[in-house]
Amino acid sequence: VSTYSLSHVPDPVLLRDLAALVARDRATTAALLAHLAEVDARRLYLPAAYPSMYAYCVHELRLAEEAAFKRIHAARTARRFPAIFAALADGRLHLSGVVMLAPHLTPENADGLLAAAAHRSKAGIEQLLAERFPRPDLPARLEAVSPPLPSGQLAPGPADQHAPGRVEAPTPRPKLAPLAPERYALQLTMGKGTHDKLRYAQALLGHQLPSGDLAAVLDRALDALIVQLEQRKFSATSRPRSRQRRSSASPRHIPAEVKRTVWERDGGQCTFASEAGRRCPARTRLEFDHVDPVARGGRATAEGMRLRCRAHNQYAAECTFGVGFMSQKRATARDASAARARAAAEVIPWLRQLGFRADEARRAAARCETLPEAPLDQRVRVALSFFAKRPQGRAAGFLPTAT
Ligand SMILES: [Zn+2]
Repeated sequence: VSTYSLSHVPDPVLLRDLAALVARDRATTAALLAHLAEVDARRLYLPAAYPSMYAYCVHELRLAEEAAFKRIHAARTARRFPAIFAALADGRLHLSGVVMLAPHLTPENADGLLAAAAHRSKAGIEQLLAERFPRPDLPARLEAVSPPLPSGQLAPGPADQHAPGRVEAPTPRPKLAPLAPERYALQLTMGKGTHDKLRYAQALLGHQLPSGDLAAVLDRALDALIVQLEQRKFSATSRPRSRQRRSSASPRHIPAEVKRTVWERDGGQCTFASEAGRRCPARTRLEFDHVDPVARGGRATAEGMRLRCRAHNQYAAECTFGVGFMSQKRATARDASAARARAAAEVIPWLRQLGFRADEARRAAARCETLPEAPLDQRVRVALSFFAKRPQGRAAGFLPTAT
């Protein structure tokens, strides 16, 4: 008898079995989250050649994207507040509830909040959160959003959008979806500035593209953007300087031609592979990595370099130098960046007292980020030099003769 064909099952048995299955499902969910949390904490997705827990859940475990997101979020929350596991297992709390409560939970309020949320529906938990963590009223908002047009057409000019009677329409989320093999639909809402640029590009293309076809305009725009981004990424030029290599003193300097070769050879994808030989799918947050660490004599040649995603670059460094060493290194880097931020922030009140606007004070104070060790008065002087450079600053009266 098939487990899925139940037409012969008597009503009371059907109801009893259903309840039993729901109970079992809850227990399984709690256990599943505990496993997810532990795998996440041990970062076992890294040796399996995935850049993140999310990628592991979607590609390895084949969870749907939203399901993966929800479970990882809930698992991390439950790891911080383990009482959640039991509440999930016995049905006091559902997965959506955990995700809703997550941003509000603290060690102080966790017990109370979890108890108050017990056996509540999503709407009930929303109500609870609104009572305990009231938010300010939503600001009144009126947005001009035109009705969707047939693809390939631009919306009418702004005049039509302010026609009377047009009240708040929800802004559609940008959408990029396959329609048929090799055909994709792109739908999005853009600001007036972007709209004007698009119109302008269309007009400039005039003769080359008489139809003004949006897809063709977008294609050319992306070509231009990619050239620019590649230039920044590889400092690539259309004419690679032949052999005239700037002999940079730093062994960490990677020549542009090496970057270009490595990027093309590795196909713009992380090269980390699991023991089973599965390659990491990451194509974003890629870094150029020395096969042998620089500290151990690694060289910036095409053979000596490879592409790695950020997660696997760090993972490899941890495997080489040890987790403790690397987390120490990251902590030192964090401290240094905090010290730089402080060096600038301390100067701002002084500049404000001198009558500078908040935004210009912030920009001037940024000059002090390189001087975390300098005494305050010296930093204030450095910040003031920002205004001295400008021909007509309000600072002109007391600078630079004051010093
Ligand atoms: Zn990777």
